Order: sequence, then structure tokens, then C-alpha cells
Amino acid sequence: MSQQNLWKDKNGGRPRRGQLVLGELPAGLHLSVPEAQALHKALEARLGAVVLVLTDNRRRMVSARRMGTRIELRAHHMFVGCEAEVIDALARLALRAEGLNEARATIRDYISRNRDTIRFEVDEDQLQARGRVHDLQAMLDRWRARFPVEELADIVITWGRYGRGRRSIRFGSFDFDRRMIRIHPVLDQAWVPDYFVEFVVYHELLHALFPPRQTATRRVVHTPRFREMEARFPRYAEAMAWEQHNLPRLLDR
Ligand SMILES: [Zn+2]
Repeated sequence: MSQQNLWKDKNGGRPRRGQLVLGELPAGLHLSVPEAQALHKALEARLGAVVLVLTDNRRRMVSARRMGTRIELRAHHMFVGCEAEVIDALARLALRAEGLNEARATIRDYISRNRDTIRFEVDEDQLQARGRVHDLQAMLDRWRARFPVEELADIVITWGRYGRGRRSIRFGSFDFDRRMIRIHPVLDQAWVPDYFVEFVVYHELLHALFPPRQTATRRVVHTPRFREMEARFPRYAEAMAWEQHNLPRLLDR
């Protein structure tokens, strides 16, 4: 997914070209595209043409470099929805402008205030499989009965923690090391149909059955075989349509 902007410079009438790149975000991450576009626009108001690449990289939250007449800014998706002060700091960082240390401090502060929004880890002793509405353990057990294979025997499942983030959401994740499936608690609501939660659980289970493949250039998480199996979910089309229709409501939690 990527979005392109083409417009005329107000002063010179010279076309400039910036771009918002969402293609590096993991497939399971959903974010508010209008808010991502708003961030891109605000940065371009300060910097001119910007290629804004949103990433899921927690080790390198922000980096910037000049590429000819454009600036490439790579930023963690947690910056979508940040306040004007933080946008200014990002711009100063990109320009290596005056007040660089202050800018860095503002960004560090923003990251530490918002760390919760990108983490929904749960400790082993805090597993919470039974939600208020949906019972994840029952779902996991049903899938295991259908696929009685070793790869699924040791898997645990839990509802994740409620992050404060509002701009992006990951419905589920599979932790390969801990053999743990986490499901986002926003799905534990009566208006979220059982089959949709079931589908997210099924998707994460497939990760245990079909581990990522490393090619020469990249790591393929959702292999063709994975996608094929995913599409065999009994109510696949319905689940896809439900997600598309209800994503705004889920993001606006
Ligand atoms: Zn996945």
C-alpha cells in the first residue's frame, strides 16, 4: 500500500513530489490512513517534499536523510497522531536544524509516553484466555481438535493488554519463542462476532503451522501456502468483509 502526492509548490510553481509509504508495516497492523496522511502533510508543510516511511522498527524509531530535493523520514507508526510540537521536533531532526538537542528530547519524551501503545505483552503468569465476551481457550481447543498436530500442542493463548494507542491496532500476534498467541482486547466486545475472533485465532495458529521463510532478500511471514490455508477458513469472505466494514469502529476505541 502506498500513497502518492503530487502538487505544485505555492511559490515557485515547480512540481514537488512526496510520498507516504505504508508498505513496510506488517500485514497484521492496521492504522488510520487519514491520520497517517495528516502527519505526512504536516511534515511537508515544514520540510517540502517528504518521503515518509512508516515502520514497525522499535530499535530505530526515527531516522532521516536527504535524497536530492526530498527528505526521506523513516518513523515508527507510533508517531501517527502525534501533536504539533512533536511534528516540529521531527522536522528539526530531519533538517539537522537549530535546537537539535531539544528536538531529540521532545521525541524521546513522546516515545516514552507512548510506549504502551505499541506493546501488548503479557506475562506467562497473567494469561487471561477467558474474556468478558469471548473465550479464547475454547476457540483454541476447538482448532486443536480439528488439527491434532504436535505444532499446536504447546501453544498458549491470552487476551493482550489494553494499550492506550488509538491510531493503530494489531488484532493478534504469535510469539514464536514463547509459543503464545495474543489477541487484542478490543475484540472482546459483544458486537464483535465470534467467527471474527475465531478467524484471528486461526490466523495466528497458522503461524505456528507455517513458520516464516527466509529468502535471499527478505523474510516471508505470510507464505503462499499460509495464504491458501487462511482462505480455507469456513467464513473467510465474511470475516474479511466484517473487518473492512468495522475497522474504523475498532480503531476508534
Ligand atoms: Zn500474520
